[in-house]
Amino acid sequence: MNSESAISIISTTLQEWYSTHRRDLPWRTNSDPYRIWLSEIILQQTRVEQGLPYFERITHRFPDVHTLANAPIDELLKLWQGLGYYSRARNLYAAAQQVVRDFGGRFPDSYDTLLQLKGVGEYTAAAIASIAYGEAKAVVDGNVFRVISRLYALDTPTYTTEGKKQFTTLAQQLLDPSHPSEHNQALMDFGAMQCTPASPRCSDCPLQAHCLAYASDTVSQYPVRRSATPKRERFFHYLMIVNGNNTYIQQREHKDIWQHLWEFPLLEADHEMSTEEWLQDPLLAPFAQQTLRMETPVKLRHILSHQIIHALFVTLHVSGTVELPPESSWRTLSLSDLSGVAVSRLTEKFLVKSEHN
Ligand code: SF4
Repeated sequence: MNSESAISIISTTLQEWYSTHRRDLPWRTNSDPYRIWLSEIILQQTRVEQGLPYFERITHRFPDVHTLANAPIDELLKLWQGLGYYSRARNLYAAAQQVVRDFGGRFPDSYDTLLQLKGVGEYTAAAIASIAYGEAKAVVDGNVFRVISRLYALDTPTYTTEGKKQFTTLAQQLLDPSHPSEHNQALMDFGAMQCTPASPRCSDCPLQAHCLAYASDTVSQYPVRRSATPKRERFFHYLMIVNGNNTYIQQREHKDIWQHLWEFPLLEADHEMSTEEWLQDPLLAPFAQQTLRMETPVKLRHILSHQIIHALFVTLHVSGTVELPPESSWRTLSLSDLSGVAVSRLTEKFLVKSEHN
């Protein structure tokens, strides 16, 4: 299996498969590193079908790295809304500024220099270096782990340091150094379309004869997975105050989920508060005299990769001058401008449900 000829057959087979099955994707129309970089960042933790419209919108608004670096970050966050993992967008923005500031506006053109960009790890650097510049660097992501673990029937867990080293070495051995771009993209598509996580299409797989997992009827055992860790549960209590045509929002500033996004005033508690308990909180007390009516509270459950958010949204319609709590970062915002600020998917769901969007 490890012989040079077997390796060469696998890479050639993969590239032949790719020539007929390759996905027609907008970042494959040329080898512009900016577009490849954007696509790779968008597609981290995101399916291609979900990421495509975001890629189109972001490249339409920011056709090159200069436009992105010179725009306010809020514009990018707004375009990113709904995609999740907002640290990707913040890193994207920081990296665009690095390219303009530190690299004279030209994208770094080697694996090692690409690694200097914020948010660019080994996988993304290898993808850009091989696809845009033809550098012989193998990509190693979830798709590649899966294909290689099955081809070699490898028991080493992919999430261990040893596993990563072993898989990276094998991926690099498999790489066709004269066609790194085609080889890497072939492996990515092959993992996404043929050797899929559930129900891989082994019966018509061109690598069947070289696949040790298939030969031993153990495909479902690979790759070896980590047992799931329980998700952290959090309890968010939001207050939407409607005062005539205005409401009040604040920006999440701390290093936490949704950093830099906007939201209604929030109380996070260590348990799920009832509406009555939430209404007695000191945050709401000042509005008791001014409240005209309260809308039916909205409860939402929002699941993130490592957290479950239990949210309660209370909407109060008030009259008169609202005294903003001292030292709060609340900002007054016209209701009609709410749809223009970047908010989390959770707040977006509430706005749609309560028809305040
Ligand atoms: S035979 Fe099945 S498990 Fe093996 S590479 Fe092909 S699709 Fe993947």
